[in-house]
Amino acid sequence: MIFEGLFGLGMINILSGILYKVFLCMAVYKDAKEHDDKNAVLWTILVAFFGLIPTVIYLIFRFQKEKEFIRCPHCGKMISKKYPVCMFCKEPINNSSQEAFVSEEVKKYLVIAGVLFIIRLIVSNLISLSGARQGVTFNLF
Ligand SMILES: [Zn+2]
Repeated sequence: MIFEGLFGLGMINILSGILYKVFLCMAVYKDAKEHDDKNAVLWTILVAFFGLIPTVIYLIFRFQKEKEFIRCPHCGKMISKKYPVCMFCKEPINNSSQEAFVSEEVKKYLVIAGVLFIIRLIVSNLISLSGARQGVTFNLF
């Protein structure tokens, strides 16, 4: 029964680890595509391999880029904040209508990835806890 429980936890641990990365990749890929990032695929591969660290680096890059550039609300292209008129469609830009840092869809992926990350954290703690308990039992006998 204990082994069954451990097997279940182990499975949840592995599954949540995989799903967490899948959703993190989806969030980064979708976000990069939404912001015309030519390296969208590269970012996604980096996140698939290294998880959280490239995600944070990606977000810092995004934040830096967004300080100078804004998405035109008329044609959707990334344009410099320095000019009051879009250089592609010539429509005036009002800086007051700032869009959210990430879109609703990306936010959804990030929340799911976050939940899976927490589940994995709890499960791996449970596994090491039960492992430690077993170790104690073995030491006593
Ligand atoms: Zn435009």
